[in-house]
Amino acid sequence: MKTGGKAVRRKGGKAVGNEGGPAAKVSRGHRLTARPSASEIISLLKSTYPDARCALVHRNAYELLCATILSAQCTDARVNMVTPALFARYPTPFELARAEPADVEEIIRSAGFFRNKTKSLIGMAQAVVADHGGEIPRTMEELRTLPGVGRKTANVVLSNAYDTNEGVTVDTHVTRLSGLLGLSRGTDPVKIEEELMQLYPREDWGILSHLLIFHGRQICIARRPRCGDCVLARLCPSSLVRPLPGTI
Ligand code: SF4
Repeated sequence: MKTGGKAVRRKGGKAVGNEGGPAAKVSRGHRLTARPSASEIISLLKSTYPDARCALVHRNAYELLCATILSAQCTDARVNMVTPALFARYPTPFELARAEPADVEEIIRSAGFFRNKTKSLIGMAQAVVADHGGEIPRTMEELRTLPGVGRKTANVVLSNAYDTNEGVTVDTHVTRLSGLLGLSRGTDPVKIEEELMQLYPREDWGILSHLLIFHGRQICIARRPRCGDCVLARLCPSSLVRPLPGTI
């Protein structure tokens, strides 16, 4: 993907700091002079990534909840390698609630933190069976009572399994890109989520995080953002390139 106009590298614009990319400028107090158009940003991202969606393979809310618990400190690709065996052995919360921890640990070992994740998975399933008749709850409040389920995980399940936008899922990509793009001035995920919810209409909350994650993986990569190929470069206050005068 290329930007619309010709671009020139900013004089002396080489990024410095803890991440070596433009994020460093923001985190070190770089003052954003103007908040770019939030609506233009999401429009460009929607047309750039028309297939943006949850990367965790799942067939229902139970599978998505398990996959999201497993995704902590782990790539989605790795989770997708682990979950087929997990779901084959424990196809519903009823089987997982009765699982032997050692058996679950063996299946999910490569996803990291496998002992804690096993506790969360089995605890979640037991609570779902005991308190919700085996159905994954459909509200933020109920989901957050389950072991291993915080606001981020609940947002993922509500948005992708139940098509209910209660908030914006804020992961590392969303945190980083929100700062770089000037959509948020915070570093705390809760504050970032609040700011994004104020900037965008509810119907965009779910897709927004997918779009930012896609962009963070493909173009605005941590430590080596490809600003010259970025469709948002002319809007982004952290861009390392600037359009030539008269080209926008
Ligand atoms: S211009 Fe694009 S790639 Fe560069 S920092 Fe901004 S969002 Fe990231």
